[in-house]
Amino acid sequence: MIIDCHGHFTTVPTALHEWRKKQLEGSGVHGQPLHISDEELRQSLEGKQLRFQKERGLDLTLFSPIAGQMGHHLGTPEQSVEWSEVCNDLIHRVCQLYPRNFAGVCQLPQSSSAGDFGVQASVHELERCVTELGFVACNLNPDPSGGFWKVPPLTDRTYYPLYEKMVDLDVPAMIHVSSSCNPCHHHVGAHYLNGDTTAFMQFLLAPQLFKDFPTLRFVIPHGGGAVPYHWGRYRGLAQDMGMEKLNEGLLKNVFFDTCVYHQAGVDLLTKVVPTENILFGSEMIGAVKGVDPETGHNYDDTKRYVEATTSLSAAQRQAVFAGNVLRVYPRLKQYIQD
Ligand SMILES: [Zn+2]
Repeated sequence: MIIDCHGHFTTVPTALHEWRKKQLEGSGVHGQPLHISDEELRQSLEGKQLRFQKERGLDLTLFSPIAGQMGHHLGTPEQSVEWSEVCNDLIHRVCQLYPRNFAGVCQLPQSSSAGDFGVQASVHELERCVTELGFVACNLNPDPSGGFWKVPPLTDRTYYPLYEKMVDLDVPAMIHVSSSCNPCHHHVGAHYLNGDTTAFMQFLLAPQLFKDFPTLRFVIPHGGGAVPYHWGRYRGLAQDMGMEKLNEGLLKNVFFDTCVYHQAGVDLLTKVVPTENILFGSEMIGAVKGVDPETGHNYDDTKRYVEATTSLSAAQRQAVFAGNVLRVYPRLKQYIQD
């Protein structure tokens, strides 16, 4: 079994984008339903996400709203709540249409303009999505200010009500920024990787967080940003600061996906990061959609790299493909029981 822990509804019908545009323009969609038929949903997935799933031999994708469109720096806190509900409800419909192919992961109504940055609203939406819609995790934006980093670090006590709820519901969060409105940071080429790297360093600097929440779990996507490549730097920083070794401390709570789009990158990831901390992910159809002329395959066909790496035994490879994902996302068991 192969579970892709990182997928977004990037091929969503344009009606969703139009709804959001009207919402932000204040032109009267408040409280209005989104009109997308089941047939339109099917058309937006078959021949795209579902075709790739089948062609690449993937069984189940953890599916969330488009990360780049979360836009926590846009609109009012109330609009962020409404937008999150609309996006998450659409993901729920996809999971109902294709219950064997997709499991839901929710967007949270974080908001850079809310006093608590939308944490309390996020608690409510997470609970709704998990207990009413059957979702298995959430995406947590470490920079709801959209590229300007105007909010406290993820280890700040502001976030504790959300972490209490995550622990209570036994769901992890994938750390995932949204779009960048700072022209210095290209969104998927810089902002995403900055966000991943920054979040890891925030966790390293504040070991009290995982003492307060020993079972709290975060998945850092895009292979962990710059972290695996600079593993010696992070081990050394922890050592210099008199902290626990990484594998005795935060690696009980922090995991990485395999969204690295070349063989040498996955070789490095699987060589330096303990196998039990690596979860299979592809983020298809996402940041990089093309075919690599050096291999003849899509850059985001990450299963090939995991299969080809010599750093993993057969048992370790299977753990990356499914076992580790099931351990970090225990609510997935409801999807694979039959
Ligand atoms: Zn993503």
